[in-house]
Amino acid sequence: MDRMSVREEAIATAAEWEVVNGRFQAGRERVDEIYARDVFTLRAMRERLPKETFRAVQAVIERGEGLDAHQADVIAAAMKDWALERGATHYTHWFHPLTGLTAEKHDSLIIPDGSGHVLYGLSGKELIQGEPDASSFPSGGLRATFEARGYTAWDVTSPAFIVHGANSSTLCIPTAFVSYNGQALDKKIPLLRSMDAISGQAMRILRIFGSDQGVSRVETTLGTEQEYFLVDRRLYFARPDLVSCERTLFGAAPPKHQQLDDHYFGSIPNRVLAFMAEVEDELYRLGVPVKTRHNEVAPGQYELAPIFENANVACDHQMVVMETLDRVAPRFGFMALVHEKPFAGINGSGKHNNWSMSTDTGVNLLDPTDETHTNLQFLTFLCAVIRAVHLHGDLIRASVASAGNDHRLGANEAPPAIISIFLGDMLTDLIEQIEKGAPERTKEGGLLTLGSRTLPALRRDPGDRNRTSPFAFTGNKFELRAVGSSAAVAWPNTVINTIVAESLDHIATELEKRLGEDRSADKIQSSVHETLRDVIKAHKAIVFNGDNYTPDWHAEAKRRGLPNLRDTSEALPALRSDKSVALFDKYHVLSRSELESRLNIFSEKFSTQCHIEAHSMASIGRTMILPAAMEHQRRLAETVAATQGAGVDAESVRGALEDFAELAARFRDKIAVLEEVCRHGVEDPVEHARHISAAVRPAMDDLRAIGDELERYVADDLWPLPNYRELLTIR
Ligand code: ADP
Ligand code: MG
Repeated sequence: MDRMSVREEAIATAAEWEVVNGRFQAGRERVDEIYARDVFTLRAMRERLPKETFRAVQAVIERGEGLDAHQADVIAAAMKDWALERGATHYTHWFHPLTGLTAEKHDSLIIPDGSGHVLYGLSGKELIQGEPDASSFPSGGLRATFEARGYTAWDVTSPAFIVHGANSSTLCIPTAFVSYNGQALDKKIPLLRSMDAISGQAMRILRIFGSDQGVSRVETTLGTEQEYFLVDRRLYFARPDLVSCERTLFGAAPPKHQQLDDHYFGSIPNRVLAFMAEVEDELYRLGVPVKTRHNEVAPGQYELAPIFENANVACDHQMVVMETLDRVAPRFGFMALVHEKPFAGINGSGKHNNWSMSTDTGVNLLDPTDETHTNLQFLTFLCAVIRAVHLHGDLIRASVASAGNDHRLGANEAPPAIISIFLGDMLTDLIEQIEKGAPERTKEGGLLTLGSRTLPALRRDPGDRNRTSPFAFTGNKFELRAVGSSAAVAWPNTVINTIVAESLDHIATELEKRLGEDRSADKIQSSVHETLRDVIKAHKAIVFNGDNYTPDWHAEAKRRGLPNLRDTSEALPALRSDKSVALFDKYHVLSRSELESRLNIFSEKFSTQCHIEAHSMASIGRTMILPAAMEHQRRLAETVAATQGAGVDAESVRGALEDFAELAARFRDKIAVLEEVCRHGVEDPVEHARHISAAVRPAMDDLRAIGDELERYVADDLWPLPNYRELLTIR
């Protein structure tokens, strides 16, 4: 099928969609009625379980107590009945291996009854423990290939849910995934360990301030904002680069993309809005509290953001969000792209990671409250974050490193690869006051009057926002903006929790030392002021409120000694520094070998993805672009001959032919160069990643530049790939 007919088909699909989806005009059920309908929530458990069993579940969630075999059987039976009522035929232990995706192996709920018929059943053992063959999941050297055993273990704190596919419904049980030797092979185990670590240290701080009454745990909370692109499905399948790599490897800039700033918050196209509503409907049924939807900066780019939740649940929900976008898009003739940079020269996608700490009684520990200068507890938590990010900015950077995110970080659309903290005027003023002595006042934003009699006066925040900062304080939480849109967020949050746990530990220890037995208000106040002063003096270099996009900041950051790890190959080795190994080990989040295995897996994933891109590029170049270019060249040559034959001066056409032939020849040469650098094998995963950055990626950039140049000359009817204008237009 040539490109023109593909395009026509895409338009036809959109039109068909309008007709077929007339069914949506019928309206939707109310959200408050469908919300969490497909989730085995605590409420569902309370309704269905005997009292003592329900209490046992609560004891696991609140105090980490175990379940006995009988209780597990009772819960499993109730869960099975609940799932059957919702049409489930299968169950799966749903987990997060280190591929960055989720994994599921479905087992039917049937049990033969011995008389040639079947019953439905789910045992406590099946609920609690599974044994997927671990050998085909990445282990980064933790296991030899022949050691196949791995286990999944039920995570009681993240509720089970049902996914309805086209012709099947499956009970998904969130689980952790470990090797036979008990080493974490997934992203959930370290996250849960890090949440325990930060909780323990935060409780020490609360005890010092006497705010621990009734509090048994400190949770971390997480709200993620997911950016994504939509492209027409038929056009997607006409682009081998999108199919294999989720990003375009060739593509000249279209005349109009985002220059007019007319897409951001623009009115949402009808088909897209219908898609969003369907996604939200499915997410509501799965108990994902989606709140916000809007057009993003680039044409074809959108955003979806749920309300924050407990970080473990939020991380699971984040995976569900990406899967739901993927599952629903084809129903509307779309493909959803969560890649960080599907289109060169056009804004990429991120996933803002809003993070805070909260008591299990619901008090947000990063809420500055009014009169912030008197809120010593808030200032203590704030300073712990400042210290943590200053000491371990390299780890945060490593936690967001990926092949896709490399195209985004550092470009002037996303935060730079240098990690710094934005605090805003009010807090910056406060930490300056603490550095000099006791803080005495809190800057206020005041009122903003609009100069019209009828418009309300607005309460102004005490500081402006800063969109360029990678780690910004945004009112009552920190927002890590450097996370890529395709990332599984459990890992960056594991890092944030662990580094903040260490700083809370440090500060709690300092405070306890200074306080001794004296817990009077005066003593607490002076001890906190002294301790925080030391922290601020040592770590204020991480605070930067200016424009992170300017070259001046790069120079300034260098003077301040802040690392600038420009790409994945530079960022990942932070995982093997002595400092990192000691940190993860001390808080029992990851052992040395678990950390090492992650470094290997992430490095290999980076190199493999780049290799797939390089091979796709060479193949598209040789088998699609080059033949089109040759055909174009032939037409030009015929035109020269025909022009001459007609007795007209062919000088100008001949010049065009010569220039074009030269460009096409250069293109062929560059394909060969790319193929050559790809052949170079490197054994060590970290070294291999370096080779990719140093040699393969530059060869890809060179090839692309000429390919995109060819696109400007080759006749439109010959060009074999849907172009950017076509891909970015959604009707
Ligand atoms: P902003 O406009 O600053 O981005 P929003 O209110 O739109 O703020 O929130 C963005 C995201 O931050 C949402 O997902 C929201 O639920 C989340 N968020 C708000 N408060 C918290 C919190 N205490 N902890 C974690 N995330 C939060
Ligand atoms: Mg935000």
